[in-house]
Amino acid sequence: MPIYEYVCSNCKTHFEELVSSTSPEIVRCPKCDSIKVKKTISTASFRMGHGGSTIPSGALSGCSSKSGFS
Ligand SMILES: [Zn+2]
Repeated sequence: MPIYEYVCSNCKTHFEELVSSTSPEIVRCPKCDSIKVKKTISTASFRMGHGGSTIPSGALSGCSSKSGFS
């Protein structure tokens, strides 16, 4: 069974749900129990930017007190 990724329209929570194609069920948000959820294209689109990142590796550590990646 495929795993689909959903986002809740109510509380913006992202979650994944195992969905059987033969028996479509109403998917509820695990956080607020809302049925206003949208199916999103799963992690495939998330990976499209990989290898062409526009964020310098050091930029994210600017406001962090952690020092170990420099
Ligand atoms: Zn929700």
